[in-house]
Amino acid sequence: VLLPLPLTGAFDYLCPAPLSDLAPGDFVEVPFGRKTLTGVVWGHARGDVDPAKLKPILAKLEIPPLPAPQRRFTDWVAAYTMSPPGAILKMALGGQAWKPFKRKPKGAGTPASNPAAPPTLSPEQAAAAAALTQKVTQGGASVTLLDGVTGSGKTEVYCEAIAACLAKGQQALVLLPEIALTTQILDRFTARFGTAPALWHSDVSDSTRRHSWLGIATGTTPLVVGARSALFLPYQNLGLIIVDEEHESAFKQEDGVFYHGRDMAVARGHIGQIPVVLASATPSLETLANVESGRYDRLVLPQRHGGAVLPDVTLIDLCAHPPERQSWLSPPLVSALTQTFADQGQAMLFLNRRGYAPLTLCRACGHRFQCPNCSAWLVAHQGPPRLKCHHCDYSNPLPKHCPACQAEGQFFACGPGVERIAEEATRRFPNARIAVMTSDTIEDSAAASRLIAAMEAGEIDLLVGTQIMAKGHNFPNLVLVGVVDADLGLAGGDLRAAERTFQLLQQVAGRSGRSTRRGRVFLQTLQPTHPVMQALAIGDRDGFLRAEAAERRLYAMPPFGRLAAIILSSPDAAILGHVGEALAKAVPATPDIRVLGPADAPLALLRGRHRRRFLIKAGKTVRLQNFIQTWLGSVRFPRSVRVQIDIDPYSFF
Ligand code: ADP
Ligand code: ZN
Repeated sequence: VLLPLPLTGAFDYLCPAPLSDLAPGDFVEVPFGRKTLTGVVWGHARGDVDPAKLKPILAKLEIPPLPAPQRRFTDWVAAYTMSPPGAILKMALGGQAWKPFKRKPKGAGTPASNPAAPPTLSPEQAAAAAALTQKVTQGGASVTLLDGVTGSGKTEVYCEAIAACLAKGQQALVLLPEIALTTQILDRFTARFGTAPALWHSDVSDSTRRHSWLGIATGTTPLVVGARSALFLPYQNLGLIIVDEEHESAFKQEDGVFYHGRDMAVARGHIGQIPVVLASATPSLETLANVESGRYDRLVLPQRHGGAVLPDVTLIDLCAHPPERQSWLSPPLVSALTQTFADQGQAMLFLNRRGYAPLTLCRACGHRFQCPNCSAWLVAHQGPPRLKCHHCDYSNPLPKHCPACQAEGQFFACGPGVERIAEEATRRFPNARIAVMTSDTIEDSAAASRLIAAMEAGEIDLLVGTQIMAKGHNFPNLVLVGVVDADLGLAGGDLRAAERTFQLLQQVAGRSGRSTRRGRVFLQTLQPTHPVMQALAIGDRDGFLRAEAAERRLYAMPPFGRLAAIILSSPDAAILGHVGEALAKAVPATPDIRVLGPADAPLALLRGRHRRRFLIKAGKTVRLQNFIQTWLGSVRFPRSVRVQIDIDPYSFF
């Protein structure tokens, strides 16, 4: 019996006579220590445990068995991510691990109302929809990239595929990044299919979660819209997976089980022999490499729907047009905002940095406020002024005196966060209605809906926000987007820095001019000749991606080579140092694999734990997992040392 616990393997239990018909996939209740847990029958025991020591299974639950593809998927993800299968099962049980299901599953899902008539598709849209629909109707494994600019109708097209899947009596899953904030798309699905999809993400209440889980497990819930974790749910009859905004790094989970939701969705499709659709206006290099090699199909929607044109992108060279002192909006951007407000248009200012200022220092002695638990500056936030760490829970009011020199009134805030940009905008445009959209101002989906509704209703003139406002929203009267610091994501030397900056800025730019008025986008940059800025300015996505791919290929970096990271952490720096050295000495010599490190992680201290990391670089076809298993298995780890394995790492923090 596999239990939803991060422990190795399945556990042996006795099968009492009344339950002699138990089969793999059955949900059962078993005693475990002093608890009763829900688990899943995984198979016959090997018989190497003394039966006298075994406890009996307590009961079989009235839930349809976990289908075979779902079980194979669990084992596959465990092997790929090098996690215990029980940790994957825990995700399948949807966080209900400790509370066995007592209730009988309810029969019906949400009653269906009349679905809205689908729009008449353009010839390109219709062709793409027909191709997808055929794949769904035929069944069988396939992966298709739906590649189209923002506003080209990707959602409309994949809705056709969903309709075909539902018509076949199968379940469809739509994975979205940061779904808690994506309210508009839910209303759209509800209208289109006449029934509200089951929602699955961390913000959903326990009772809704339980209801959805049962509907998914029994097959009565046809459509599920969720965050990456929804992929692991026990679908009774899954027929289609859509991964919208497939390039988004929000699909990558970086705690517990480290996995990429898009990649796991492709694996799930393969194991279950069902089609997978990856939709994006800025596809990842990984996906494009798979298209190029013929493993994935591609459908292209080249135009915005209804003749809306893509926005006009202008680079503002900050050297040539510097903002005034202690200001961050350059004169050209200020005049564009002025003009937009005069014409009753809406505007957005984008800065991917929460809070008021990323660094506070004392003018008297130069003291900089740093987090006591992390190697990071404390970020100033407004309201009553506070200093917060963005990596741990540390948060304190700004003290009156400098902790180093006792000086009073000498604090100086360096650089802007969104709150400071909103302050500047308020000073410059006292009559404009300004709102701030960051994870600090919108804690839940209700707050997000309110803000989005206010924006749609024209009650906001200027929205200032971080990347959470870059996603999918559709504001017809939004005609100006200003990017305060387009260079921000390029710093840091991350493998995907340029790719991500391009994707994010392209996405932000795509918010603008989605109806009849042509949108304008201004990017403030200190590097106007950088390939990312040039590509954005002339709209040459493919040229940029080609150059980026060529560079990755040259250095055998993903998607043309493989990476894995091993992160060691411990509250004790000395012990951590020893373990790092021991591991470095134990690296097995293997062709086509190089181990780099150990080196201090960029966040060398995180939540009070010191961190060192190894990077493993290998050829594309190498089985990294076997190598890592052998290597880590040859070293003994002290208890205080935590080892995290990140196959295909996306961040290098
Ligand atoms: P994408 O997902 O590519 O950003 P959407 O599917 O959201 O594009 O389409 C953008 C907007 O255009 C939406 O409001 C959508 O309803 C509308 N739209 C797209 N295609 C059509 C069509 N064929 N007829 C009517 N409206 C359409
Ligand atoms: Zn911290």
